[in-house]
Amino acid sequence: MKEKDVVIIGAGLVGSLLSIYLSKRGYKVSIYERSPDMRKENMVAGRSINLALSDRGIKALKEVGIAEEILSLAIPMHGRSIHNPDGSNTFQPYGKQGQYINSVSRRDLNCKLMDLAELHGVLIEFNKKCNSIDWKKNQVEFKDTINDQRSTVNFYLLFGADGAYSAARLAHMLQYDRFEYQQHYIDCGYKELTIPAGANGSFLLEKNTLHIWPRKNYMLIGLPNTDGSFTGTLFFPFEGELSFEHLKTEAAVEKFFGETFPDVVGLIPDLTKQFFYNPTSSLVTVKCFPWIREDKFCLIGDAAHAIVPFFGQGMNAGFEDCSVLNNLIEKHDNNWVQILKEFQLLRKPDADAIADLAVNNFIEMRQKTADPKFLLQKKIEAKLHDHYPDQWIPAYSQVTFSPHIRYSEALRNSEKQEAIMREVMQQQGIEEKWDGSEIEQLILQKLEQ
Ligand SMILES: Cc1cc2nc3c(=O)[nH]c(=O)nc-3n(C[C@H](O)[C@H](O)[C@H](O)COP(=O)(O)OP(=O)(O)OC[C@H]3O[C@@H](n4cnc5c(N)ncnc54)[C@H](O)[C@@H]3O)c2cc1C
Repeated sequence: MKEKDVVIIGAGLVGSLLSIYLSKRGYKVSIYERSPDMRKENMVAGRSINLALSDRGIKALKEVGIAEEILSLAIPMHGRSIHNPDGSNTFQPYGKQGQYINSVSRRDLNCKLMDLAELHGVLIEFNKKCNSIDWKKNQVEFKDTINDQRSTVNFYLLFGADGAYSAARLAHMLQYDRFEYQQHYIDCGYKELTIPAGANGSFLLEKNTLHIWPRKNYMLIGLPNTDGSFTGTLFFPFEGELSFEHLKTEAAVEKFFGETFPDVVGLIPDLTKQFFYNPTSSLVTVKCFPWIREDKFCLIGDAAHAIVPFFGQGMNAGFEDCSVLNNLIEKHDNNWVQILKEFQLLRKPDADAIADLAVNNFIEMRQKTADPKFLLQKKIEAKLHDHYPDQWIPAYSQVTFSPHIRYSEALRNSEKQEAIMREVMQQQGIEEKWDGSEIEQLILQKLEQ
């Protein structure tokens, strides 16, 4: 198998990283990418300008020896800076002292991964859009996006790493009996708005945090970029009284931002221009099954499991896919029937779990981060984690800082913890006695039940 061709559809974050893993194992890998080479063109690198890279993703980057280089381009974010509606600010650390996530530019990361892939002998063909797959002949048909010419490529092993709207998945699905497919759009879309740097590339907001302006059923977030700017993302309903459909004029946008995010208005001089120029995009969760065909095909990354971005885990999960697959190649000594079977068996429940956790976090971020009772709950949980670091790990820390805990395990644990905290927060006088040993003992007791 090793001498034979491995074909990857999509040179995004996951396809590029996967190609490095496989080429390091001696496979001959080619990637076919629909877009032009972003290293040569001044093009936008796809969805979201920057991303939060955390421990699961870093673990995978370390395995191929590029974590340090990537992290040198990243900005550590130690917690959430909450910008409350009354103008006050609060800071919520993400985890224990020294734990943080990293804001990285999607473009820089993708370019680095492609550079490294080519250094390892991977061939990347650009402007090649996957059109269809012939499962009998083991052939993919690509259309050249510049001259419309069609060509076919033979494969022995094929990966569909072509993202949430995967053409490989569609080709698989249409010719697979009883293929399971679920797609769900949340009622909010998103729009990116750049907060430019100040004089001499200075940061106009606190640099090392993720900024959130939670406003009940919508919110704005901001992640720092190395040039001093922040990428703001407005998550906002498509329809309804306060929604994208109602912000149709410059005056309406100015009024809405002035009333809702007054501290942001002065930071974005061309706010209305950006608002109407930048696209409004939707947010989808995709769950499907099976991801594989015998020993010859596998979906990976968003193509297998697209999730909403509220846990900052889509890319991290896709990178973790590559790491798990790599371990299975070792375990099954390049026997791809076994590798793909176990890959799907292991990863499908984890992908479903992080999809559910991400939707739950959407609700938490937009509705609860400004709620005093929720903040008190988080304080109690943080204290417990401090005193009993192995017994009580907050859900966020399990997902973000504990790559040894599977997503499916994190979901189970977090459901149990949430049920306990619901009871605890009902206790009379919790606001006064939260810090005492009575509450701590009660929680520990319930944990053991
Ligand atoms: C607003 C937003 C914020 C996010 N923030 C975070 C975050 O903070 N942290 C995090 O971990 N994740 C985040 N994500 C998720 C992350 O972007 C994805 O999980 C990640 O990009 C998945 O990588 P991928 O390679 O599987 O897919 P993609 O990045 O979508 O790459 C797919 C590639 O396939 C190519 N392609 C598509 N169709 C074809 C075709 N027919 N033929 C050939 N090539 C094709 C595309 O051009 C692209 O290059 C965010 C997502 C969004 C939308």
